[in-house]
Amino acid sequence: MELPSIGARVRVRVGSRTVTGCVVERGTSEPGREEAGPELKDLVEVVDREPFLPAAIVELCGWVADYYVAGIGDAIAVAMPPGARAKASSFRTRRVATLTAHGQSCVANPDADRLDRSSHAATPHRSLTAKQGDALIALAAASAGLPLSELRDRGVTADVLARLAARGLVAIRDEAHDRDPFENAPMRDVIPDAARRLTAEQTAAFQELAALADTGGFRVALLHGVTGSGKTEVYLRLADRVCRSGRQVLLMVPEIALTPSVAAQFRGAFGDRVAIQHSALSDGERHDQWQRIRRGDVDLVIGTRSAVFAPLPRLGLVIVDEEHDSSYKQEEAPRYHGRDVAIVRASREHALVVLGSATPSMESYQHAVSGKYARIVLGRRVLDRPLAAVRIVNMREEYAVEGPDVVISRDLAASVEDRLARREQVLVLLNRRGYATAVFCRQCGDTFECPNCSISLTVHTARQGWRARCHYCNYSMMVPKACRKCAAPYLEQSGFGTEKVEQHLRERFPEARIGRVDRDSVRRKGALASLLSRFADGELDVLVGTQMIAKGHDFPRVTLVGVISADVGLGLADFRAAERTFQLLTQVAGRAGRGDRAGEAIIQTLYPEHYSVQLACRQDYPGFFEREINYRRGMRYPPLVALVNAVVRGRSFDEAMQTAADIVGRLGPATMTAGFAILGPAPAPLARLRGEHRVQFFLKGARRADMRNALKTVLAAMPQIRRRVTVDVDPLSVL
Ligand code: ADP
Ligand code: ZN
Repeated sequence: MELPSIGARVRVRVGSRTVTGCVVERGTSEPGREEAGPELKDLVEVVDREPFLPAAIVELCGWVADYYVAGIGDAIAVAMPPGARAKASSFRTRRVATLTAHGQSCVANPDADRLDRSSHAATPHRSLTAKQGDALIALAAASAGLPLSELRDRGVTADVLARLAARGLVAIRDEAHDRDPFENAPMRDVIPDAARRLTAEQTAAFQELAALADTGGFRVALLHGVTGSGKTEVYLRLADRVCRSGRQVLLMVPEIALTPSVAAQFRGAFGDRVAIQHSALSDGERHDQWQRIRRGDVDLVIGTRSAVFAPLPRLGLVIVDEEHDSSYKQEEAPRYHGRDVAIVRASREHALVVLGSATPSMESYQHAVSGKYARIVLGRRVLDRPLAAVRIVNMREEYAVEGPDVVISRDLAASVEDRLARREQVLVLLNRRGYATAVFCRQCGDTFECPNCSISLTVHTARQGWRARCHYCNYSMMVPKACRKCAAPYLEQSGFGTEKVEQHLRERFPEARIGRVDRDSVRRKGALASLLSRFADGELDVLVGTQMIAKGHDFPRVTLVGVISADVGLGLADFRAAERTFQLLTQVAGRAGRGDRAGEAIIQTLYPEHYSVQLACRQDYPGFFEREINYRRGMRYPPLVALVNAVVRGRSFDEAMQTAADIVGRLGPATMTAGFAILGPAPAPLARLRGEHRVQFFLKGARRADMRNALKTVLAAMPQIRRRVTVDVDPLSVL
């Protein structure tokens, strides 16, 4: 058997099964020395003669596995298109019918083969049925033929075609076909931009970035542009320039479904030279798009985090839009950060990286401040539109006057009313879904906790009544009428989420057209796109939602943004709580006043003095950074040190604790020489999850490699517990 190349798929026997794998390394091994390395298996078949994954991508996966302490198999799996392991065929085909020469002459000369339905007169051939005649006429009008699926829609069955084919009038063949994810996408967001003049600031930013791109080398630039400063326009021109120089562009976005207009603008500008990669596409669509990229049919790829592995051979530019967004981090193995992998990839392939955001991550801004990244600022909105004017409503005062059940303050309610009267639009944010966040018995104090997780169940409105659901494991139950413990009928709900906000708004403004966007309301495929486009088209007046409504949207008719509670994220035991809150508030306020009329934002909070609320109000990013970096420095948190989180799971708390203590004990000696500290073990904030107990510890230090290597060595010596340990390098969330 010919030795397969790196990146080729191979079939390998594992136990009694044959599975598909990917070659990541080639080498020779001496008999008897195999136990030193990974176990070697016999090849059953080499699937690809050419590498399926380009070698550069295989190497990038190797870097990911090493850096994030993950298996190489997990890393390769993210880089592979769906279905790549199931079948060897690389191309999706469809069946297409065309007229044969005989068929053509038959249509041109109906006497030869009767097309005249009414006539049953004798002809040189047997006459055609009406359906057969219709089919020939339809095909005569389509020189490239018609797909069978389309003919079926026109009432031409496979049976009719088979008869025509049997008579030599029609040919049926398989044709390579890519499913187009834009096929049904609304294109109305595309504005013909070619003629639009960049503002002076945009021009300066573009020129600086173009100069970096022209060097053809690796560089990272942070494009720090306030909300509405027109970053997309700068991306478009830069992408165009890089494509013209013969190199390719990768545009990464947090979630395509949430910001369809960025993708649509690129599609409008680059047409079918764009491919798209994200998880909301069907497997078939993603596979086809991947193949187009692999074949070299595209200049530009738009995608979510896994698109960082797109098989582009001549990458010249990576744009990471909304680079601070936490959805770039994958919260399962391999726990990689799409932005950070993009930077590593670009450094290997000598490309320019542009990180764009109005609220950069602490990590990226720190690098910009230190000079490691170029910093480019768009400090003003386009056309001198003002940023939204932000006001704070102190909810403590509101409760004192209006009672404890207030959801919408007097100020916010009056402002909503005002916008409705002026036919302007309103966004209302509450970053917590559901109706109520807890249920408890007023008599005995019993609460509704998830039986599998240490978290209280969230109440949702359901057709049959109230349903309480765990947001971690999805356990759910009907909320009973009486307490399960003491049978008293005094169950009370407390806390509230988006469903309750929606209800309050409907009661208060019965004439308003209100939509809700959160993970519950957009579960059905297409529901999110439909809500967003109805809002964009002015069919809805108010959109209530979680952080999904805060991201990158450009709705010019929104002049008011209301934040029901700025405090949702502040109470979390997470050193990034203030950063997240600042980003969310600044971003959502940035959705107001993007059109001709000025915008306003109203933030309700119990902590009006908190610096993340105060500075978000002033949309003062540098002020926030200054404050936050001092806190991180004082507490020795990222980005000033590196952090590795390890969670150990066990059937009991003691088991998890003991295992964690064992690992920490074995790591001890390394802390002396390698210079990092260990914190913990301690119960994780989410101490039980899906029926398992969780204990965590942290490694904190200046050099990731030391921490990684120490952890790898210890874990390799404990293979029986490796499965129960989750390692997260550069964790974003530590619940
Ligand atoms: P950002 O991503 O920086 O928040 P966008 O790229 O969404 O901002 O641009 C904000 C709005 O300004 C969009 O509606 C966009 O079409 C418009 N815009 C961008 N550049 C210009 C320009 N040079 N002249 C006029 N309008 C512009
Ligand atoms: Zn649960």
